[in-house]
Amino acid sequence: MRQSIPGFPLREKVQVQSNKMIYFRKQIEGIDRPQMEADVVIVGGGPSGMACALRLSQLIDDHNHRHPEAQMTKENIYVLEKAREIGQHCLSGAVLDPRSMDELLPGWQNEAPVDAQVDRESFYFLTKNSSFRAPLMPPPMQDHGNYVISINRFVKWLGEKVEQTGITVFTGFAGSELLFEGDRVLGVRTDDKGIDKRNEQKSNFEPGYDLKSKITILAEGTRGSLTKELIAKLDLDKNRNPQVYGVGVKELWEVPSGRIRKGEVILTLGWPLTTKEFGGSWIYGSKDNLVSMGYVTSLEYADPRIDPQHALQTFKAHPLIAHFLEGGKMVRYGAKTMPYGGWYSLPQLAGNGWMLVGDSAGFVNSQRLKGIHLAIKSGMLAAETAFEALLESNFSQDRLKQFRYKVDASWIRDELYEVRNFHQGYNNGLIPGLFNTALQMVTGGRGLHEVYPSHPGHQRMQHLDQLPADGGNRTQLLGKAKGDGKITFDKLTDLYHSGTKHEEDQPSHLVIHDTDICNTRCVKEFGNPCQNFCPANVYEMVESTESLSGKEIHLNPSNCVHCKTCDIMDPYEIITWVPPEGGGGPNYDGM
Ligand code: SF4
Repeated sequence: MRQSIPGFPLREKVQVQSNKMIYFRKQIEGIDRPQMEADVVIVGGGPSGMACALRLSQLIDDHNHRHPEAQMTKENIYVLEKAREIGQHCLSGAVLDPRSMDELLPGWQNEAPVDAQVDRESFYFLTKNSSFRAPLMPPPMQDHGNYVISINRFVKWLGEKVEQTGITVFTGFAGSELLFEGDRVLGVRTDDKGIDKRNEQKSNFEPGYDLKSKITILAEGTRGSLTKELIAKLDLDKNRNPQVYGVGVKELWEVPSGRIRKGEVILTLGWPLTTKEFGGSWIYGSKDNLVSMGYVTSLEYADPRIDPQHALQTFKAHPLIAHFLEGGKMVRYGAKTMPYGGWYSLPQLAGNGWMLVGDSAGFVNSQRLKGIHLAIKSGMLAAETAFEALLESNFSQDRLKQFRYKVDASWIRDELYEVRNFHQGYNNGLIPGLFNTALQMVTGGRGLHEVYPSHPGHQRMQHLDQLPADGGNRTQLLGKAKGDGKITFDKLTDLYHSGTKHEEDQPSHLVIHDTDICNTRCVKEFGNPCQNFCPANVYEMVESTESLSGKEIHLNPSNCVHCKTCDIMDPYEIITWVPPEGGGGPNYDGM
């Protein structure tokens, strides 16, 4: 197991720097910033953030109804969303377990944009040319009765509900920095707007706001930049299993009628991954012959040449899958990471003035490949905690840690505790993993040990000279996919379908702490895996006469689809994703 390289400890604060070619985004110092006071700021307008806002509004309405003499206001509750419009950064294709929505808004199905109810399911194990259908859907993966939704439209609908309550949702605003007083979070600074490529103020420069808040709830999604900063600063993951992640590379297809039924779910394991990597696929049939499909590659693989976008293309070329897609049209592309670590990887969830919810905290059931229902429920429980804290005017750690107790007393704990060792059981590959899963199922999730250890995924990456030069049995996953233009696509063609757009004249929001490592050491040791694991072609090594290796890192930040894979999987931990100017990013609107 490799360690962090000297000089770049795991928790180094961002050092903004520049070389000849790349200017990295940084906060402008020494300017007056507008100040705003808030009761609660929720950073992130995804399912957990919106559910949190909605539940808080319900509790305040109920209180005001019962106590007309002591009215509470919602005027100082804000949701910050970095996308230009609500839901824009959420890519279609999800199967929703309705449990938390039934609690939040009983009867929600009658008005929410639900595409189908799952009524047909199958599970396959794939080899290179064959497929083996399981006679029964493995019980933990059963989706019967769950709902196929477009997460984009679903979150947009939730956002409208929040706005109807009187809570303000600021779109196009990213949280760029937490405001601290000691270990107390005092609020959030939003991003500066109108900064050019060289970090100089443009004529339209607007400094970010300092939103001083009694409670800050981080609902940023996987590997949120503020969450990462908070976890590092306050050591919130001490004595926890390190968080591990997978990246799902997705495409949305329109297929000829009759290929995949509305409400049909197909899951696969196996090809194109080998038995040493963890991952698998999903195919969800939606309305109007739309099909969401994707391939998840766990970000713990050994070979730095593995390209998760290539894995999806190879998967689609499999005879079983190609048959579904022939004659169809790919209409959207995107990628998203998700935290896999589970119960023992949850960090401390609350402290002085703050709480963590949803994917930011790691509320995902990796066995079911589901997190939306947990994100919603965690947002609701955080809202209940915030409401009680507002009533008592007590925002201390002692008060807000009630959030953790609420999680422990809820069905979140029941669900996640039962699969507490699931992902870690696959540490040594598929075969031991299946054995561990079987054992865990008969021992209530325990298996061989109470806590299976886990390791940060990037530490499992091996040097090129430890791997077969010809790729061995992984050639189908390595390097750039070429694509046939019909069923399979190269990365740039896929990227075109993400609709991603950023202001071009802004510094890079991918901060590389030391580009010399990319240009010298990484070239030899890992062959610059950023070129492979990034699903959006942001990182390129270009010819250079000035670098000893003859290569130099070049960035295309405007391609970024905000998946955070680079922040997670870079073997030297020298890449930090920070929010670009608010509003930039993929556009999954309407899908
Ligand atoms: Fe994902 Fe990083 Fe590539 Fe952006 S640059 S698409 S966050 S891997």
